[in-house]
Amino acid sequence: MDVFSPSKRRKVMQAIRGKDTTPELLVRSMVHRLGLRFRLHGQKLPGKPDLVLAKHRSVIFVHGCFWHRHDCKLAATPKTRPEFWSAKFRANVERDQRVKAQLEKLGWRVVEIWECETRRAETLELRLRQEFAERLGPSTTAAQASRP
Ligand SMILES: [Zn+2]
Repeated sequence: MDVFSPSKRRKVMQAIRGKDTTPELLVRSMVHRLGLRFRLHGQKLPGKPDLVLAKHRSVIFVHGCFWHRHDCKLAATPKTRPEFWSAKFRANVERDQRVKAQLEKLGWRVVEIWECETRRAETLELRLRQEFAERLGPSTTAAQASRP
């Protein structure tokens, strides 16, 4: 069920599409701040991962919650044309799974960051620190320093 009215849904969809690259930019800058080296868009790799951390044999995909069906409120299904949407969503999810399996078979670690995880810098930083814990030095962030 859609939590938005049709007109509101249109606005939300436009916003999602328009800001397409923002979550990716946020992830890039945070990965950079953490001192991890990366390349963009691994053209030769399955699914062209958004970030490629060759040294760590890791790739990062930044997924929009709506298109890639994250289990969160950004991924509400539009009320109109349910068959159209469910086919589209299914294709996206299946492609994500296929690409992930291919990359893992090639020995890559696949990290998927969701759009909603990029909205708060602290959340994103903690998430990336957890993913790359063994590569990073001791944390000096405010978020971690305030932990008991
Ligand atoms: Zn989400």
